[in-house]
Amino acid sequence: MKTEKTFVMIKPDGIQRSLVGEIIERFERSGLKIVAMKMIVPSGEMVRKHYSLDPEWMRKTGEKTIAGYIKKGLKPPTDDPIESSTIVLNNLVKYMSCGPVVALILQGVHSVGIVRKLVGGTEPLTSDVGTIRGDYVLDSYQLSDIDGRAVRNLVHASGSVEEAKNEINLWFKDHEVIKYRHIQDEILYDADLKGILE
Ligand code: ADP
Ligand code: MG
Repeated sequence: MKTEKTFVMIKPDGIQRSLVGEIIERFERSGLKIVAMKMIVPSGEMVRKHYSLDPEWMRKTGEKTIAGYIKKGLKPPTDDPIESSTIVLNNLVKYMSCGPVVALILQGVHSVGIVRKLVGGTEPLTSDVGTIRGDYVLDSYQLSDIDGRAVRNLVHASGSVEEAKNEINLWFKDHEVIKYRHIQDEILYDADLKGILE
């Protein structure tokens, strides 16, 4: 459990908004350990692969979008989840490959769940206050649809342990993931806490 890994990508708007330090700090101070990190410019093909790893992504994302519209009393542009996410995917490819991103792997107990909690919900309009997407950006499905683009929400984070494994395999080579001891691991995980008092 203590070595659960999750994949995070600070999207191009995170870099352009000069929020790399701020975003990484939020993950770091939770106690999670950075075990890999690099700056890259993703190709459109890699972005497409990334969002095709989960065969259910198209359906789930489409349903979430439609539910987001309905909850606000608005009419979704389409009632078909697959049609909705096909448009999203094409826009996402443009968004994610438009410039540099920072890819990282965070390790620690429940890393997937903890990181999703820190990142917040997909749509910044409704992401909780205190989350990265809730605090630093102000986009909505409605505006992104009007402008014909993906929602700009600063950061990607794996949705499940399985998804994280696949995403890590896609973006990182084995030798880029570093196994090391972090001093902090002791206060986070040591069951006895002996050796603190002199
Ligand atoms: P998350 O990133 O929260 O896991 P998804 O996997 O459902 O969300 O979607 C991936 C990304 O696609 C989102 O982070 C966002 O940038 C974009 N996106 C999702 N739904 C929409 C939508 N309805 N309109 C525009 N962009 C969207
Ligand atoms: Mg997702």
